[in-house]
Amino acid sequence: MLLHPGNEMARVREIFGLGDDRLREIPEFAVGEGSFAFAETQPGSRDPVGYNPCKPVRYVVNPDGAPDFWEALVHDAVESTSRASGLEFDYRGETDARPSSYDGGFWAGNPPPVLVAWATPEEEPGLEGDVIGLGGSASYEVRPGLRQYATGVLTLDRDQFDVTDWVPGSREPLEAVVLHELGHLVGLGHVDDPGELMHPTNSRTTYGPGDLEGLGRLGDTPCR
Ligand SMILES: [Zn+2]
Repeated sequence: MLLHPGNEMARVREIFGLGDDRLREIPEFAVGEGSFAFAETQPGSRDPVGYNPCKPVRYVVNPDGAPDFWEALVHDAVESTSRASGLEFDYRGETDARPSSYDGGFWAGNPPPVLVAWATPEEEPGLEGDVIGLGGSASYEVRPGLRQYATGVLTLDRDQFDVTDWVPGSREPLEAVVLHELGHLVGLGHVDDPGELMHPTNSRTTYGPGDLEGLGRLGDTPCR
């Protein structure tokens, strides 16, 4: 049996634990065309903390209080974020879990999937005022010098997503909110540039050039 040199190299990398088994290609992105910031960087470095690109980011949805088009809303935004980051996402179904059950946990190597849920400001005080969504992930040290996200939560304001009498065109702002929070979830921070979706009060409905560069870099973190 003939082995291609490439295969042999892959085996060597596997044996030494440097497996390069990305689930998706690192996406192409333009460099320096926009602004981006990372929510968290590696200790002593400017490299971002991200999810493991060799494992799918598992996620579940609690549709309690969600608008009736929540499936398209969530899955389309996840797909856009997946394409931009090269991270694969794996939908694991519906759940009864609440955002509050994800507070401050350490999961000892077995983290729960990312949770997408709708809540009121009474349950999630972070949603008070104009805030319509919250997104973020919790990182841990997988080995010295490398932190990775284990899981995260995306919480959307139930009342502001209550669009039973929505008019055509009213969905795009909600889609933009979900995309923005997914940007936080995979590791983007806010920028001052209103041309990016990660501007805190942006008017974009899709990822901007800097968002796309940041997301591409977040998907290009080490495998483990
Ligand atoms: Zn934000």
